[in-house]
Amino acid sequence: NLLGPEQAGVVISRFGQHADIETQDGATARCNIRRAVTSLVTGDKVIVRLATEQHSSSGIGGIVIAVHPRTSSLTRPDLYDGVKIIASNIDQILIVSSVLPSFTTQIIDRYLVACEDTDIPAVIILNKTDLLTDENRPEIEAALARYRAIGYPVYLISSHTGEGVDDIKDLLKDKVSVFAGQSGVGKSSLINALMPDAELIVGDVSGNSGLGQHTTTTAKLLHFQSGGDLIDSPGVREFALWHLPAPRVGWCFVEFRDFIGTCKFRDCKHGDDPGCALQEALAAGKITQDRFDNYHKIIASLDEQRHARHFRN
Ligand code: GDP
Ligand code: ZN
Repeated sequence: NLLGPEQAGVVISRFGQHADIETQDGATARCNIRRAVTSLVTGDKVIVRLATEQHSSSGIGGIVIAVHPRTSSLTRPDLYDGVKIIASNIDQILIVSSVLPSFTTQIIDRYLVACEDTDIPAVIILNKTDLLTDENRPEIEAALARYRAIGYPVYLISSHTGEGVDDIKDLLKDKVSVFAGQSGVGKSSLINALMPDAELIVGDVSGNSGLGQHTTTTAKLLHFQSGGDLIDSPGVREFALWHLPAPRVGWCFVEFRDFIGTCKFRDCKHGDDPGCALQEALAAGKITQDRFDNYHKIIASLDEQRHARHFRN
C-alpha cells in the first residue's frame, strides 16, 4: 500500500497544487491535495494519509483527503474571485502599534474593525515602550485606556528591552495567533524575540525534491517554543478593511452597537442629523470623540475606494 492510515494534520503552508502538512506526531510532509478539497489554506485542519516509507522517494509525502470546517478565516480582495482566503482557524489577532512611527488610533481602529468583522478576538500591543517620554506618554496612555474601557486587552512591551515580552508569551500559549500592524512598528523584532530559531522549530519538509520552493507571500504556520502557533506572511500582517458597507463598520465599533440602531432615520449617516443616537451618545460621553472621528474617516476612505474601483471597471 502506497499510503498509510488516515490521520489528523494541519496545513503549515500551501502553494500551488501542494501543501505542507504537519501531523499530530510532529512529522511534516509535502502532500498532494485530493481534487474534492477545493479550498485549502494555511491553518486548515485536515485529514491526511502519508506515503509509506518505501514510496516516499517519489517526492510526494502524502495526500490531503479532507478539510474540517473553519472556525475563522482571514480574507483579502482578489482580482478574479472577489475574495480570497489567506489563512484560517485563527484564535486571536495581535494588533501591534508603537510609540514611533507616531502612535495613531486611526490605524488601530481600522484593524479593530477588520477583527470584529471576521469575528476574531483582537489584542492591542504597544511596542517600543523604551521610547516613551514625558511628552508622548500622556496621550498614548489615555488612548490605550480608552481601548481597555471598551473591552480590548492592551499590552505594553519593548522587544528591545524585553519589557512585557513574557506576558505576550503567556497570551500566545495554546492559541493560533496573527500579528498585524503597519510596517515599522516592530512586528519582525517581536517575532524574533519570541521565536529566536524559527526555521529550526518548523523542521525539515520531507519529500520536497523538485516541487518548488515556498513563495514569500505564502502564509506560514510556525510554533512558538514557549507554546502556541503563529501564522505569518506579508499579506496576513497587512490584512485590512476593504469592502464593508457603512452599517457594518458601525457595528464593528463595539461600543456603538447600543446606539446605531436607534437613530431617528434608518439610514442615518451619524453626522449632524437631528435625532442621531450616536451623536447623543457622544454628547453624553458614552462614546469618545476619537472613535467617533475614526469611524467617519473609515467610512470616507471606504467610499473613496469604492469610487476608485467603480471608475476602474
Ligand atoms: P516591522 O516592519 O513591523 O516588522 O518592524 P521591524 O521589526 O522591522 O522594526 C522596525 C524598526 O523598529 C527597527 O529598526 C527595529 O530595530 C525597531 N524596533 C523594534 N522594536 C523596538 C523596540 O522595542 N524599541 C525600539 N526603540 N525600537 C524597536
Ligand atoms: Zn445616527
